Amino acid sequence: EVVTRFAPSPTGFLHIGGARTALFNWLFARHHGGRFLLRIEDTDKARSTKPAIDAILEGMRWLELDWDGHEYYQSQFWARHAEVAEQLLARGHAYRCWMTQDELAAAREEATRERRPFRINSPWRDCAPDAARPDAPFVIRLKAPREGETVIDDKVQGVVRVQNEEIDDFILLRSDGSPTYMLAVVVDDHDMGVTHVIRGDDHLNNAFRQLAIIKGMDWPEPVYAHVPLIHGQDGAKMSKRHGATGVMDYHEMGFLPEAVANYLLRLGWGHGDEEIISREDAVRWFDLDNVGRSPSRFDTKKLENLNGHYIREASDGRLAGLVAPRIEQMLDARLDNDEIALLARAMPELKPRAKNLNELAEGATFLYRERPLDLDEKAAQLLGGEAPGLLARIHAGLSALDEWSTEATEAVIRSVAETAEVKLGQVAQPLRAALTGRATSPGIFDVLVLLGREESLARIADRMK
Ligand code: GLU
Repeated sequence: EVVTRFAPSPTGFLHIGGARTALFNWLFARHHGGRFLLRIEDTDKARSTKPAIDAILEGMRWLELDWDGHEYYQSQFWARHAEVAEQLLARGHAYRCWMTQDELAAAREEATRERRPFRINSPWRDCAPDAARPDAPFVIRLKAPREGETVIDDKVQGVVRVQNEEIDDFILLRSDGSPTYMLAVVVDDHDMGVTHVIRGDDHLNNAFRQLAIIKGMDWPEPVYAHVPLIHGQDGAKMSKRHGATGVMDYHEMGFLPEAVANYLLRLGWGHGDEEIISREDAVRWFDLDNVGRSPSRFDTKKLENLNGHYIREASDGRLAGLVAPRIEQMLDARLDNDEIALLARAMPELKPRAKNLNELAEGATFLYRERPLDLDEKAAQLLGGEAPGLLARIHAGLSALDEWSTEATEAVIRSVAETAEVKLGQVAQPLRAALTGRATSPGIFDVLVLLGREESLARIADRMK
């Protein structure tokens, strides 16, 4: 059985790079009918607050990356980590080290003076088990192999080798008995039955050290896949200065979760020329062979295009539900059920032009504004000059209609334009300004129908004087 995991350290938000790692792990597990586990690496107690953890879970839920079973918390397994450190001691793959901070600092200084890389060389590594031990705090260090090499057949990076002399005697258990990340991650992955470790390639170096622990315990080695990090347009590692890095920032900016997920999937993985990939197809097609080896660049334009696509695909009812709270915020008002139903009816006219949900909301606010509408600058211009006279004629024509439809209203507007001997646009533009307070909107006949007879006539009347 395939078992993958996502193991975020709570940083207060789900980073898009982390989200992509989670997505890849999720897809790989689902593709193989395996399990996808979530482990919160809450070893840094100060940073691992409930809000910081909830922010991660919120991002995962938004992207619909459901994990199997409950979420695990690394801090629950501290006793187990200590136990494994003891077993490594017993197996001769670890040792207690009493080197003091001063001794370490002196060794470091010496290395600097001699211009060689610092490598820990503890006098306690090979001392006899019955040697006199100070009654002082100690750490447990890995007795890293000093000869040979460690090879990883990474599913993304290919075969990667490291000379074992490069692997230092890193700490497994600190003097207060707490495990280091390096120990905890290996023990937890083993105990949770993780078969595939898919994560950012900033962890590739750690994998060699982690393998030393795994070998020391005679545990099965997981398959590794270290995915290149996401970079910004300038080629540097994606950071705040390239744009938003938190997944929920994209929610805020009006992106649909399926657009973000599709974009993150394509960022570093491909299936032929496919750009728009449904979740079902992604599960069907996902593999590690087609994960790219070089870092991918985050391209907001592409994400926006995908978002526009998914907005046009989404049902009107769903979009209305997503857009309503944004309108409520913009207008500082509540929408009742009828008003939300109106929003759904307006969607076919609104959604072709919107790149995100905020634009959609902005484009829909005219439906709910109070009379007299405030006008933006362009709308105010359109309502000067001949406009009041034309609007009076339109008002008279529309008032006489028995049937309020796009066809019927269109016929009236056309005949007003003809009688006044002006182009249709010269009538339609002031009408638009009167009805929406803006110079752009959905088709003007649709606007008339959406607003209804009474409200339309009232808004026109407001501009006839
Ligand atoms: N907690 C680590 C991180 O957030 C990930 C550990 C791992 O995937 O092995 O970077």
